[in-house]
Amino acid sequence: MSSEPSVPTVQVLAEAARRRTFAVISHPDAGKSTLTEALALHARAITSAGAVHAKGGRRGVTSDWMELERERGISVTSAALQFGHRDHVMNLVDTPGHADFSEDTYRVLAAVDCAIMLVDAAKGLEEQTRKLFAVCRHRGVPVITFINKWDRRGRDALTLLEDIETHLGITPVPMVWPVGVAGNLRGLVEASNTEQMRRYTKVPAGTHAAIEELLTAEEAVEQEGEPWQNALEELELVLDSGPGWDREAFESGKITPVFFGSALTNIGVKLLLDSVVDLAPAPAPRPLAAGGSREVTEEFSGLVFKIQANMDPAHRDRIAFVRVCSGVFERGMNVTRAASGRSLTTKYAHTVFGAERTVVDKAYPGDVVGLINAASLRVGDTLFSGRKAEFPGLPAFAPEHFAVARPKDISRSKQFRRGVSQLDEEGVVQVLVSDRRGDQAPVMAAVGPMQFDVVLHRMEHEFSSPITLDRLPYQLARVTDAEGAEVIAKDRLTNAEVLIRRSDDALLAVFADRWYLNSFQRNKPDVRLDPLIATA
Ligand code: GDP
Repeated sequence: MSSEPSVPTVQVLAEAARRRTFAVISHPDAGKSTLTEALALHARAITSAGAVHAKGGRRGVTSDWMELERERGISVTSAALQFGHRDHVMNLVDTPGHADFSEDTYRVLAAVDCAIMLVDAAKGLEEQTRKLFAVCRHRGVPVITFINKWDRRGRDALTLLEDIETHLGITPVPMVWPVGVAGNLRGLVEASNTEQMRRYTKVPAGTHAAIEELLTAEEAVEQEGEPWQNALEELELVLDSGPGWDREAFESGKITPVFFGSALTNIGVKLLLDSVVDLAPAPAPRPLAAGGSREVTEEFSGLVFKIQANMDPAHRDRIAFVRVCSGVFERGMNVTRAASGRSLTTKYAHTVFGAERTVVDKAYPGDVVGLINAASLRVGDTLFSGRKAEFPGLPAFAPEHFAVARPKDISRSKQFRRGVSQLDEEGVVQVLVSDRRGDQAPVMAAVGPMQFDVVLHRMEHEFSSPITLDRLPYQLARVTDAEGAEVIAKDRLTNAEVLIRRSDDALLAVFADRWYLNSFQRNKPDVRLDPLIATA
């Protein structure tokens, strides 16, 4: 029987209530690293502030992984940065922001309660921002928008908001408005207080951060004249024609509060950070696969949302990142893995960001913990103590890249099979098979081609079975049924085939391109073709 909890329920509730767990979603180069640093600058970093995206000279352990990162100049590691702000504990979960997407990028969104959508003022909505937004929408993650780089020339504020409304189908509700067009930012005015202007002045070389002054409305009229008047008019126009701020509409994804600023010069960043405290939801009860939900005050439960292997070859370790969903995590506690019913001990628990690690002793709902050498854990696993909890598994995303894997040395087929199974279970790629090719030539399916690099690397170095990957000419996947599969097989199509996903036996019909898929659908309207989680 479980013993008395060492932390009283009221305390768990209070700790959960002051947690804000969020991620920044953006297209590469929109300024995610810069914003992360600027956010942390405003806050009291509780752990490893120095590790904030050390993009260049990354310190600390070297590993196979980091070699891969270094070669490509990207951050493969993804975990959480924790810092304090206004008596709240902020957990910023890192989404890898490189040009090549992977399913990991999407999965981390299962671990957050809110996302900041970062938009470059000059470029507007870009492809990866849209894809990540689609995942937020699917998962019901509310989105706060930050329009960045307002210190540089860019689009017009009203046009940017129109784009968000038209292309994302979410209504932008400005919480601040820029005084001055992009490239000539004078300051900001808050929707909640139009009697005051926050004016920013650049400081001479040495530091980027601008100096803030507060002006009364009269001073703003006198000193800033037209830009101030224009800002007020535009803000009023947008507020009058829109629905206004409403918590329920925000949490259900109908509206997105919008902020303007410049991460580089630290303009508008504090208002954004305040908004995460004021607007973003605290950890809430999480739905269970079997129905009902787990209250945050119940005993410990957590969701494994990411596995990182071989971060440090000296230890050959594997870190499972767990988002605490209920109760208190205490290092050393025994927890049960819902999928197998087996228990494991959590002696090695860390918070990890980049290459930095700090031992964690206690964690509350919303926090992220890295469990080291928990070899049995898989992405999507639930861990719990006390009453059983099992959260719904993480969905598979629509792969857009396909390649046939073959062992270079067929005498190593045992290693090959073991490696393929392991990578499939970890969710590094989706493994698909077909009768035609057999087990020795499975098809690897990925959301982003970088997942293939990881497969090649790990098959060779970790499983001692180097492989070749031959790309297949498919770009789209749909879920079909046995009848659909039969039609496609019988037609002997050249630009489509049906493959079986190993993890769940789903039948995936894969197509060369959208044009081909459309013409197939026109000709065979009765064939079932359901989208996987569409992000495109
Ligand atoms: P990430 O790829 O999204 O992490 O983007 P980075 O933070 O690395 O920023 C990409 C580039 O944009 C860098 O050269 C930054 O200095 C620049 N940048 C980021 N934020 C701003 C901003 O607010 N204003 C300007 N002018 N440049 C910015």
